[in-house]
Amino acid sequence: MIDLNVENRKTLIYIAIAFAFSVAMRLIWVYQFHDFAPFHFHDQLMINTNDGYIWAEGARDLLSGTSSNPGAKEYFDKFHQFNDLSPVTSAASQLTAFFAKILPFSFESVILFLPVFLSSLVVIPIILIAKDLKNLEMGFVAALLASIAWSYYNRTMAGYYDTDMLNIVLPMFLLWSIIWAIDTNKNIYLIITAVDILIYRWWYPQSYSLEFSFFGLILLYTLIFDRKNIFNYKLLAIMMFAMMNTDGFIRLGAILVVFYIFPQKKFDKYIYYILGLSIAAFFITGGFSPIWAQLKGYVFRNSVSAADQGLGLHFFTVMQTVREAGKIPFETFANRISGHPVTFVVSLLGYIYLLYKKPIMLFSLPLVGLGFLAYVGGLRFTIYAVPILAFGIAFLITELSAKMPTTKLKYLSIIAFTLAILYPNYKHIEAYKVPTVFNANEVKVLDELKHIAGRNDYVVSWWDYGYPIRYYADVKTLADGGKHSGSVNFPVSFMLTHTQEEAAKMARLDVEYTEKTYDFIKMHKKEIADKNLTIFPNIEQMTKDYGFHNTNKFLATLKDTNISLPRKTRDVYFYLPFRMVNIYPTMTLFSNINLMNGHQGRQPFFYVSRSFKDMGTKIQLGQNIFLDKRTLNLTLGNKTMPIRRFVKTQYSKDMKLHKSVQLVNFTSDISVIYMANYNTMLIVDEKTYNSLYIQLMVLENYDKNLFEPVILTPDAKIYKLKV
Ligand code: MN
Repeated sequence: MIDLNVENRKTLIYIAIAFAFSVAMRLIWVYQFHDFAPFHFHDQLMINTNDGYIWAEGARDLLSGTSSNPGAKEYFDKFHQFNDLSPVTSAASQLTAFFAKILPFSFESVILFLPVFLSSLVVIPIILIAKDLKNLEMGFVAALLASIAWSYYNRTMAGYYDTDMLNIVLPMFLLWSIIWAIDTNKNIYLIITAVDILIYRWWYPQSYSLEFSFFGLILLYTLIFDRKNIFNYKLLAIMMFAMMNTDGFIRLGAILVVFYIFPQKKFDKYIYYILGLSIAAFFITGGFSPIWAQLKGYVFRNSVSAADQGLGLHFFTVMQTVREAGKIPFETFANRISGHPVTFVVSLLGYIYLLYKKPIMLFSLPLVGLGFLAYVGGLRFTIYAVPILAFGIAFLITELSAKMPTTKLKYLSIIAFTLAILYPNYKHIEAYKVPTVFNANEVKVLDELKHIAGRNDYVVSWWDYGYPIRYYADVKTLADGGKHSGSVNFPVSFMLTHTQEEAAKMARLDVEYTEKTYDFIKMHKKEIADKNLTIFPNIEQMTKDYGFHNTNKFLATLKDTNISLPRKTRDVYFYLPFRMVNIYPTMTLFSNINLMNGHQGRQPFFYVSRSFKDMGTKIQLGQNIFLDKRTLNLTLGNKTMPIRRFVKTQYSKDMKLHKSVQLVNFTSDISVIYMANYNTMLIVDEKTYNSLYIQLMVLENYDKNLFEPVILTPDAKIYKLKV
């Protein structure tokens, strides 16, 4: 029975207030954009993280429960299509589907608000840990700060629908149950700890490193300080069983068995055997292998990957385009953990003081360690340190206020200090007006496509748009937020930046090869594992299948020769949003490379101007870029040259695109395109001008033998492949 004494009642009240505070702060963004139409779809704000759309896809499929694979053997194939990469087995999708099913809100509302409510749960373990330390006020202050601190807010705000919404909550519950287990030696915390590990692993399979660190710390503590205490070995054993590398239900069975045995005194003499058994089971099931793989990654960082029997192609990698994961400035690091550098430094001192006064908090070290990994591993890790360092400053605040002469002053000082540390975080939230992933017009296009394209059809677009395309249009994609290696991006980049002729052939090739490869992997799973077979990138397999050893020679055949294409098994669409102009140069990088030797080609000329000025005789397009209105000469810095053509595009009242092409000088390589309705000028070289993207999106100059327009709007255009 829960005893509702004064302390417990206070605990509940603190939890309720902190939770409400955390939720309220997350509604600021919702309020800021509640009537901003471009961010809405189906009468609800859209989400603001790209990755969220993959979980949304899985949840949508789980809820729909229809199948295009009648007679599918596997249970989950009832819900989605073969090879569509829908994550119906993921915890995030399953939990979302569950909430969408039981709650009376729309699916769009569920994914928007799920992070708001789930991430706010973090206040519960924070306050409960403080309860164990006999300092509830500390927990309350820490909960207020941690729930809205900069990086935690950024990664769990309304619409930031991603696994982060529970990635701190679950290890904090684990820390709470470990602290209470060690402190009280009550059996109930054995099962709570084990179940928490099961849930955490289900939610986030990479959780093993934190679990293992907690296990190591408890082992160390036991061996050094508390060797005679049988309870510690029970805790270690049940954790080991929970951490085995096997099915969740088997682990649940194992922990239920030991939980049944442990409270019975007569089994105490077998505890070392049970612990031994648990460790053996952990190793036999391969529980250590992911940890070993990670360690190996650190130790043998420079090991060369095994040479294969392939053509040794050199692909461009996404890492090269993501900004260098260099050293993070201290201020950024501190802001993200505590909201302000001063708060951070004081928090750190407070944390050290807290460790000295309450050594049991040493069990929180793995979280702080992971948070500080941000210094080398990237900003995303900072959230792990947020709640623990919040304890640090909250402890100092309560210690200081305890020195106040009167109770009134004590509470006033707590309030004043707390408001001071919350303020910078509140200011951050107020200013953090992130946009939704797509705008309403783009989504409208995809929603329309959903009724046109089949669920086994492919939509070609850049990987950034992969997940949202799959969610809104219910189709397949070649690349997405989780599938965008250099070899996957190469064909897509090639299609978007080469001629329609080349793009059309490559689209048919890449789609059919993608499906064929998935099927091959599925049918030869065992052989591939046994013989360590290499699965070649599509482009490499094509090169070989068409009888070449040199990819460049194969690609050259796509230009004009009539190569025989694979049998068409489905339709292919191109999704071309206007926003792609911003990433066009980045997209070119992936195919503007000689795959045989890795030499990068010369970057095409591509310049976007959105703030051009009419200066009478000439138009200024950029700092040192001018277009003479009379001669149509282009001046780039100190170089003046004629342009090849001047194109003006404009929508008529009925939203039809009209263009006027003014040929100027055939010897020039540079064209200027004035997109009047977009208030945009493009300066492009001839290769870019002839690219699929410019021809189909900007000019609607499609080759009727190769493409058929499906949806043409200013924000996004969709074409269907005819070959
Ligand atoms: Mn699907």
